Amino acid sequence: MAPPSNTTTNDELDALVVGAGFSGLYHLYQLRKLGFSVKIFESGSGMGGVWHWNCYPGARVDSEVPLYEFSIEELWKDWKWTERFPDRNELCSYFDYVGKKLDLTKDISFNTRVTAARFDSSTERWTVTTELGTIVRPRFLILSVGFAAKIHIPDFPGLDRFQGIWHHTANWPQQEVDVKGKRVGVIGTGSTGVQVVTDIGPKVKHLTVFQRSPAIALPMNQTKVDEERHQKMRELSPLIYSRRKQTLSGHNIQPIPQDTFSVSREERYLTWEDLWSRGGLNFAVGNYRDVMVNQEANDELYAFWRDKTRARLTNPTMQEKLAPTVSPYPFGAKRPVMEGSYYDVFNQPNVELVDATEAHIQEITPKGILTSDGIEHEFDILVIACGFDSVTGGITQIDIRGLDGTSIKEKWAGGVYTNLGMTTANFPNMFFLYGPQAPTALSNGPTCIEIQADWINRCIQYMTDNKLTRIEATREAEQEWRDLNMSVAGGTLLGKAKSWYNGSNIPGKPVEPLNFAGGIPYYKSALQEREDQGYKGFILLGSPDGKDFAGSCETEYKTEIANGHAKGVNAEPIVGY
Ligand code: NAP
Repeated sequence: MAPPSNTTTNDELDALVVGAGFSGLYHLYQLRKLGFSVKIFESGSGMGGVWHWNCYPGARVDSEVPLYEFSIEELWKDWKWTERFPDRNELCSYFDYVGKKLDLTKDISFNTRVTAARFDSSTERWTVTTELGTIVRPRFLILSVGFAAKIHIPDFPGLDRFQGIWHHTANWPQQEVDVKGKRVGVIGTGSTGVQVVTDIGPKVKHLTVFQRSPAIALPMNQTKVDEERHQKMRELSPLIYSRRKQTLSGHNIQPIPQDTFSVSREERYLTWEDLWSRGGLNFAVGNYRDVMVNQEANDELYAFWRDKTRARLTNPTMQEKLAPTVSPYPFGAKRPVMEGSYYDVFNQPNVELVDATEAHIQEITPKGILTSDGIEHEFDILVIACGFDSVTGGITQIDIRGLDGTSIKEKWAGGVYTNLGMTTANFPNMFFLYGPQAPTALSNGPTCIEIQADWINRCIQYMTDNKLTRIEATREAEQEWRDLNMSVAGGTLLGKAKSWYNGSNIPGKPVEPLNFAGGIPYYKSALQEREDQGYKGFILLGSPDGKDFAGSCETEYKTEIANGHAKGVNAEPIVGY
C-alpha cells in the first residue's frame, strides 16, 4: 500500500523517544550530548507528560522540591520554585524553562501520537508510525510514556446521555471549567479525586463525592519557598540528588531501622508525631521498617492515622466513612494521598458523601447519577477521577510488534515479563522507563527515571562503540526478573489492596505486582551488575568479530533479597508510595 502523501521517513535517527515528560526530556538531552540523533514524538501540545494533561482543578505534585526535579545543574542553578509542592501550572512553567534552557523543543514533534511500531530484523531498525502518517526508522525505540498515559473510564451505562459537562480528570480541558455555583459530582477518591474535592469544595453550590474506598490521606504541609529556603535548597541540591539515589524510595529519608513494636508506645507515638509534622511523604516513606510487612504494625499505624483524621471531622457518619474504625486496606498498599484541607470540605453543609459500595453507581442519566438505592443525584458537572490503566496501559495501547509479529499487548495479556523493568524479550532495541517491574510508583519519579535513562544511554553508547546492532532480553532473564518481583512483593502487604499498584483497578487485567518493591539502591546495583557483566541476560548481535554474545542471569538476586543482604543495602521491601 502506498504511504499517505503526508508521510515523511527518517532512516537516520539513532533513537526515537515517545513522550516529552521527565524521562523523554532527560533522554533527549543526554543522548544528544553523546552525539546521537534523537527526536521526541509527543501526543500533547506541550511538554511535561502527565503535567501537561492533568490540568484538573487542584492538580499539584505531592513529592516535594527539590527532590522532584532534574538533577542537571544547568537547570537547577537558575530555577526557583515558589512552593514546596508546586501546582500544575508551575510544573508546566518548569518544563517550558527546561525546554528553552536545554534547547530541546527543536527536536520535539508535538501533537504527534505514536500508534504503531514494528521491528525489522533485516535493517535492525524500528518502523514507527504516527496518527498523522509520519514514519520514522530509528535504531532504538525509547518509550517514555509514564505510568499514567492511558485513562480509565469505568463502563458506566448511560454516560453518553449525560446532558451536563463531564470530563475524566486527565482529559480536563486546558481552558478552565467554571464550577462556581454549580452542582458537581466527583467519582473517585484517589490522589486526583482528593485534589479536585479540596479545590472545588469551597466554590461549588453542591458537591457529591462518590467514594468506593476512602483515601488514607496525609498532611501535605504546603509552604512557600522564600528566599532563605531557596538559598538553602540550592546549597544542598547536589547532596540531595546524590542522597535520593541511596534511599529505598528515592526521596531523602529512609525507613526507621527498627520494628514498630520494638520501641515503647510512647516512643512510637512521638516518632509518628514528628513524621506527621514534617508533612508530605515523610510519614509514608520514613516509618518503621516493618509497616509494610507486618499487619499488626500496619494496623497500629492506621489507628494513629484514623484518630488524627477523625479529629478533623465534625460529623460521626463522615468520621466512619472517611476514616473507618477498621482499616479498609493496609496503610501504604494503595498509594498514600496528600491533602491540605480535604477533610475540612466534608464539614461543609453543601457536601455529601455517597458510599458507592452501599449505593453503587447503577447508571448515568441525562441529569446525573442513579445509585442502586434508587436515588438520582442531579449535576451540572461530573468529574471522573477514576484513575488509569496504569504502568502497562500507556505501552500496550501502542501497537508495538516484535520479532515474531506478536504485539506487546498480546505478550503481556497473561502477565508482565521484563528484564530489569526496562526491556522485554522479542522486542529488541526497545526500552521503557518508569514502567512495569521497576521501582516506578514506589519511588520518586525523577530519581528512578535518571537511573534508568543513564543505564539505557550507556547501553546505547556501548553498542555503538562495539558496532553491535541488536540487544534483546533473554526469556530466562525476564523469567528471573519476574520471579524476583513476585517474591519481593509477595513478602509485603501490597497484595492486600485493590489498587493500580497491582492492576486490580482494571477489570480483566492480570493482578500482579507492577512495581519492583526492592527499593532504589538494590535496583540500581542490579542494573550496574548487568552492565559490568557485559549485559548478561541479553543477547547482543552484530559484534565485529562475527560472534554474538549471549548470557542469562542467575538467581543470586532473589537469594540476596531474601537474605536481606543485597550488596550491603537494606533490601527490605519499601513502604508503599
Ligand atoms: P486512583 O488512585 O486509581 O483512584 C481512582 C479512584 O476512582 C479510586 O478512588 C477508585 O475507587 C475510584 N473508582 C474507580 N472505578 C470506580 C467505579 N467504577 N466506581 C466508583 N469509584 C471508582 O487514580 P488517581 O486518583 O487518578 O491517581 C492515580 C495516581 O496518579 C496516584 O496514585 C498518583 O500516583 C498519581 N497522582 C499524583 C498526583 C500528585 O502528585 N499530586 C496527583 C494525582 C495523581 P477504589 O479505590 O475503590 O478502586
